[in-house]
Amino acid sequence: MQITPNLHCIPLSIVNAFLIVEDDGLTLVDTGLPKNEKKILKYIEEIGRKPNDLKRILLTHADGDHVGSAKALRELTGAKIYASEYEAECAAKGMPPREPKLSNPLLKLVFSLTAKMFIYPPTPVDEIVKDGDVLPILGGLRVISTPGHTPDHISYFSPSHNILLAGDSLRTSKDQIYNAVSPFTWDEAKQNQSVKLQADLKPQIVCVGHGTVVREAAHKFKFTKVKSD
Ligand SMILES: [Zn+2]
Repeated sequence: MQITPNLHCIPLSIVNAFLIVEDDGLTLVDTGLPKNEKKILKYIEEIGRKPNDLKRILLTHADGDHVGSAKALRELTGAKIYASEYEAECAAKGMPPREPKLSNPLLKLVFSLTAKMFIYPPTPVDEIVKDGDVLPILGGLRVISTPGHTPDHISYFSPSHNILLAGDSLRTSKDQIYNAVSPFTWDEAKQNQSVKLQADLKPQIVCVGHGTVVREAAHKFKFTKVKSD
C-alpha cells in the first residue's frame, strides 16, 4: 500500500513493515514475523523492483514480530541490517529484549500459546546506529532513541518528508496516536517520555508496527494510555 511516492506500508500477519523506495535502492523498516520474507519480496516485485534492490533493513527493536524475517531477507537480498546496540545484541542471540510482565493467569496462558510465533533465529546486525545518527535515506533519516517498549527501541524520522517511523513506541487507533502500554512495556515512564519527544517533532505522517498510518499527525497525539499487544 503506497503512502507517499517514496513510502509503502506492507501489512503482514499481525504487524506492519514499511518500505522506503528510492532510485538508488530500497530500505525496509522492520520485517514482521519469521517466514514473512516471501510476502515482502513479492511486494518488492509487484512494485517493479528486484529483491537485490533491497539495500538496508532498519530495525526498531528486537521483538520477534519485527526482527522475524530479517535474517532470511539479509541472506536472500544481501541487504545490511541496522539496529541500536542493545537490540542488536538481543537479535544476535535470537532473544527478546525484555521479559513480559505477566501477573494475570489468563495473560500467562495466552502468552504461552502464542510465544512460539515470536521465536526467531539468531540474527546478525551489520551496523549499529544511535540517537542522532542520520542515514542517507528520505533526505536524511534521523535515528531517534525512543526507549520504553524495550530498553533500546529506536524510531526513524525524516524532517524533510516529515515522516516518523515509530515501531512499537506508539500505537494508532481510529486515526489517533496513543501511548501503547502492555505487559510487553519495559518501562512505562520512559515510554511516556518517548511519546512526548515524538509528539514534539510534529510529524505529518506517523507509521507504527500495530495500527494504521496516521496523516496530519501532529495534532493527533493523545497522551492516554491504551492497552496493546
Ligand atoms: Zn514490540
